[in-house]
Amino acid sequence: MSAWNTWAERELAGLRAINRYRETVPFDGDGPEGKLRDRRLVSFASNDYLGLASHPQVKLAAIAAIERFGTGAMASRLIVGTRSLHVELESLLAEWNHSERSLVFSSGYAANLGVLTTLGETDVTLFSDELNHASIIDGCRLAKARTLIYRHLDLQHLQILLRQTPGRKIVVTESVFSMDGDTAPLPALAQLCSEHGALLILDNAHAALGPKLAPTRDLEVLHVGTLSKTLGSLGGFVAGSSRLIELLVNRARTFIFTTGLSPADTAAAAAAVRICRSEEGDHLRARLRALIDMIRPGHPSAIVPIVLGEDAAALAAAAELREAGIHVPAIRPPTVPKGTARLRVALSASHTEAMVRSLQAALANLTCINSN
Ligand code: PMP
Repeated sequence: MSAWNTWAERELAGLRAINRYRETVPFDGDGPEGKLRDRRLVSFASNDYLGLASHPQVKLAAIAAIERFGTGAMASRLIVGTRSLHVELESLLAEWNHSERSLVFSSGYAANLGVLTTLGETDVTLFSDELNHASIIDGCRLAKARTLIYRHLDLQHLQILLRQTPGRKIVVTESVFSMDGDTAPLPALAQLCSEHGALLILDNAHAALGPKLAPTRDLEVLHVGTLSKTLGSLGGFVAGSSRLIELLVNRARTFIFTTGLSPADTAAAAAAVRICRSEEGDHLRARLRALIDMIRPGHPSAIVPIVLGEDAAALAAAAELREAGIHVPAIRPPTVPKGTARLRVALSASHTEAMVRSLQAALANLTCINSN
């Protein structure tokens, strides 16, 4: 074995020893039911919150786009990789987010990196919630700006930091937090940002049910979103003022130096946005709301965490659920802080009530957490 492979082997053994080893396991299905290691399971693990990844209209839109434009964009967007499909999707996303313009990236991860590195210049201070997603953390790290971390959802702490800091400011937060499913108090946050002249970057990746920030005067806001969760496709976007988006087109390296989104992904996302904005979208959200209420009444999002503490406890609980035919992932550090390993239940409008009832029963029967 080469020295590099010996080193990799030692690193992997270290990860196994502390229950942090991970692997990619195929889950084959179309919707929440699928096969994992030859077992049929119902998954409560995906981010397909409205079930649009399996929606017939969304599938047809992707197929039609392939027939018309082929499978790839074939170049970066500024060369010859822009299709009318991208323009159409960007205008739909702008309208949906009450913004002048939007720009599509190849992932939500790339969107966060692009916006934070473009706007986070040396004279800027970034204020970032301590539980923000890795793509926001990495965007802050790559930006030339200084980053100050405020305590999770603690607007008083944020206010103190904003008061102490001169110069240009950007506050960046998720509106629904990906591992806790709790939500940012948007009106108060918007008020604070406008008092301090800070630009607000809101990552709405998991905001299948809201909260939505109402269009606000006196506040510059950029909405970051993903096409890969509620919209059932692949990609990300930023929506905001025409000038800021134009600057991203010219400066965001994660937009400029990569191939355009594929025709299928672009058309699927556009079809999904149309459904989200229709009466059917209202219907799907009401259905999702009702399913969430079965598990945790009044919980503000489709992500319901069951925090168990130690990594081994979360792994044991996930294994027990698999035995009961249910796939709920164990989420461990570094995805969540040390000592807060958890089961992350994600509900979708594509689940049936019977599926959610069997999840409830399996959770109630978990011997590893209900035994004392
Ligand atoms: N932001 C948040 C809050 C996320 O949870 C994720 C994905 N887990 C992303 C951004 C990245 O989105 P994508 O999967 O489209 O890269």
